[in-house]
Amino acid sequence: MTYRVPLIKSGPRILGELKNLSGRVLVVTMEVPWALYCRHFDWRPEAVHFVTDMDLETVEGLDSNLPPCDVVVGLGGGSCCDTAKYLAWKRRCRMVLAPTIISVDAPLTNMIAVRVNKTVQYIGDIFPEELLIDHTLIQAAPKELNRAGACDIASIHTALYDWRLAHKDTGELYHEETARQAQECLNVLDANASDVYDVTPKGIDTIVDLYRREVQFCAEIGSSRPEEGAEHIVAYAMEHLTRRHFLHGDLVGLGILAISKLQQNRPDWALGLIRRCGLRYECPDADIGEIRQALSMLKAFKDQAGLFYSVVDTVPLTTAWVEEVIAEIRQARA
Ligand SMILES: [Zn+2]
Repeated sequence: MTYRVPLIKSGPRILGELKNLSGRVLVVTMEVPWALYCRHFDWRPEAVHFVTDMDLETVEGLDSNLPPCDVVVGLGGGSCCDTAKYLAWKRRCRMVLAPTIISVDAPLTNMIAVRVNKTVQYIGDIFPEELLIDHTLIQAAPKELNRAGACDIASIHTALYDWRLAHKDTGELYHEETARQAQECLNVLDANASDVYDVTPKGIDTIVDLYRREVQFCAEIGSSRPEEGAEHIVAYAMEHLTRRHFLHGDLVGLGILAISKLQQNRPDWALGLIRRCGLRYECPDADIGEIRQALSMLKAFKDQAGLFYSVVDTVPLTTAWVEEVIAEIRQARA
């Protein structure tokens, strides 16, 4: 699937435009976003499907179980957008995505995250081309969910370090121009952190635009290296260890804290950035023991999972480092 720049319309009550869709419309949503939509708008589609889970079998059964449609609308969070992507990909029909929270980049990426044995796998290949970013609905969601969206932009800080390291040590392909574009996205996030924290219209549009840019330059080089470094290994290790699902921003926030220290890569600045964006790097849904264990076994986990080269391969993971991270978390929780 080739990348095409999506048409993004944003503003207050922009979902009023749904009534202009022609043909049979199938909305894929969940109870909370759908109730929110119904409180604000009168228009109703031919069919509404409520997403239950993202297990591969569930998702694969949807095409035959749901009524035919000309347009599929994904209205809600990442799972709603991903389910809509799956249907539009299978049916080759028009798709409009209306994220009601911006905690993940699912509304912009071509891949669909499904679960197999409680671990995430990616299927499909469809780049979203029409997005409606409704400030009214997004601002109705808990702020911490929307702030979490900053994580996959903030991760550029530690990811670029690891990408350069891999290039230097292993000869992995590195693109200077892409790295420059990624750094520019990080700078924009830095400059708009207070709007991201406050979930203002400018903050919402900034996150969506930064996702768009990131998805585009990653698609161009066929790699997520510019935004996925060892901070994501921390996130994957936490999920693997606990077998629980977390807000992605919580885990990646923790990863940025821990890995910027390990890299000795402006850790104070990095912590300041994720604080100013409102990422919950203290991971409120995990206990200290789980975090300590995930950090301690990071190298073993990475080797076993066969993940990419990073600072985890070059710097010893000492108890002192683990305890320094834990101390920072305790302070944030106090
Ligand atoms: Zn991520």
